[in-house]
Amino acid sequence: MSRVYNFSAGPAVLPESVLKEAAAEMLDYRGTGMSVMEMSHRSKAYQAIIDEAEKDLRDLMNIPDNYKVLFLQGGASLEFYRIPLNFMRHKKAGYIITGQWAKKASKEAKFVGDMVVLASSEDKTFSYIPDCSDLPITDDMDYVYICQNNTIYGTKFPELPNTKGKDLIADQSSMFLSEPVDVTKYGMIYAGVQKNVGPAGVVIAIIREDLLPTEEESKNIPTMLNYKTHADNGSMFNTPNCYGIYICGKVFKWIKSMGGLEAMKKHNEEKAAILYNFLDNSKLFLGTVEKNSRSLMNVPFIVNPAVVTDPEKKAALEAEFIAQAKKAGLENIKGHRSVGGMRASIYNAMPIEGVKALVAFMEKFEKENL
Ligand SMILES: *Cc1c(COP(=O)(O)O)cnc(C)c1O
Repeated sequence: MSRVYNFSAGPAVLPESVLKEAAAEMLDYRGTGMSVMEMSHRSKAYQAIIDEAEKDLRDLMNIPDNYKVLFLQGGASLEFYRIPLNFMRHKKAGYIITGQWAKKASKEAKFVGDMVVLASSEDKTFSYIPDCSDLPITDDMDYVYICQNNTIYGTKFPELPNTKGKDLIADQSSMFLSEPVDVTKYGMIYAGVQKNVGPAGVVIAIIREDLLPTEEESKNIPTMLNYKTHADNGSMFNTPNCYGIYICGKVFKWIKSMGGLEAMKKHNEEKAAILYNFLDNSKLFLGTVEKNSRSLMNVPFIVNPAVVTDPEKKAALEAEFIAQAKKAGLENIKGHRSVGGMRASIYNAMPIEGVKALVAFMEKFEKENL
């Protein structure tokens, strides 16, 4: 068996120790004589799994008691609609458009009410985070929405926007648990777990209790789309993604064993610095993001068009790089189809050796091709 360095943006690399543990428990979960996949979600054994997962997440993120933790299904993309449906009480909200995921979320908001674009970085293909210190937020807006780390473009908010007292709702899919965040600064944080935390099919939502729909408001929200349904039933109104939550729980324990989110941040900063330092000094390769907006998790780069001026040659060289990288055990380095070039996603579970191997390969490729 040989494992590659997997730079996929998601579903993505998971800690090897977690996969090994899950493998060891596959046929007989701790003396129950069955796999977690075969277990009733109403069983004592499963209740313990989900309770422990929630407790570990609360510990890791220091989540206050007045926030609910929900394990949902439907992907981050379903939250794009569920958020306005639950929270647009005055039928108006502000969106900051920093990439495709924020744009997709803003599109769903229009099904519910008045979606106001507060700022956008589309003018420069989302290569920066706009100034969010004085946005045109009005009193009648229910919330301000951001995608805090932009998976495709490789940007992250250097600081949270000034929401002028409005509740902040953040899609943290591709940065969830990569560093400490102050939960009290948000009305809601959510993440599809397949980027940094677990297998596809689970969304984790952290919601301040007072934001949940009231009994009266719930009369107009379909049951499964109402966050209150899931909050009132401990994420077990219906069958949850049992196995996915079990793996997430193991990843939470792995992060704890690594020293928690402060340690995770340090580990991620160290990895990102190796790659960004190389890019900043490279002639052949160019990072595509403005320095103060750089993500720790997703690093897009291209062959520098000022050096390889023929667009066809540039594209061919990038294709060659991706093909050779794959042969060298560096997988899924191709950029998103909307940006082109390359992208290295270096989530929590990517070891520092993987980033070093990538940079060594880039150095070699540069020498051979410049
Ligand atoms: C991947 C991603 C999504 C979409 O997730 P799905 O679970 O596929 O719906 C949304 N937001 C961000 C930031 C993402 O990276």
